[in-house]
Amino acid sequence: MDSEIKLSVLFTREQIAAAVKRLAAEIRRDYLDKNPVLIAVLKGSFVFLADLVRQLNFPLQIEFAQLSSYGRGRESAGKGKIKVVQDVKTDIKGRHVLVVEDIIDTGLTAAFFLEHLRQKQPASLKLCSLTDKPSRTQVKINIDYLGLTVPDKFIVGYGIDWDERFRYLPDICAIEDGD
Ligand code: 5GP
Repeated sequence: MDSEIKLSVLFTREQIAAAVKRLAAEIRRDYLDKNPVLIAVLKGSFVFLADLVRQLNFPLQIEFAQLSSYGRGRESAGKGKIKVVQDVKTDIKGRHVLVVEDIIDTGLTAAFFLEHLRQKQPASLKLCSLTDKPSRTQVKINIDYLGLTVPDKFIVGYGIDWDERFRYLPDICAIEDGD
């Protein structure tokens, strides 16, 4: 049962909303007349994407992709084990592409996906992530638009799951060890 797991709030819904508002202002400034393609990486970024897009409020296209990087556990699958499970279903050649991620942990997944998209020859390619865990970095990638910096904790909530659980939490919470 979810209630048996110890969680602590890392970022309240108000703090998340403020971060999303700031990001939207930055993205709006840079993409207003570019009709960009926002590619959200499923499933964890769906709540973030929905909040972000409503704040952007200008013409853009939404696409989804799904990658496999984690199994049921809490550890990264590691380099070479990341796969595209569902690719982008539109031609992004010559388009301005913004990848929308929920978490950059080691950076392996995002680095892999950006390279995958680069081969499709977009006009530009940038990365927006709701969260980053700098203490876990293995591959240095440039996050063009970053919401929140998180400590070395496993986070859930605001669309982010642990084995399909806890996506419904309105705040971003850390799972406390000792469970
Ligand atoms: P990376 O390849 O950067 O190590 O991992 C990125 C992916 O790992 C994220 O998109 C997410 O699926 C998963 N991940 C990494 N850290 C966390 C975390 O703290 N909580 C959850 N729920 N997933 C995480």
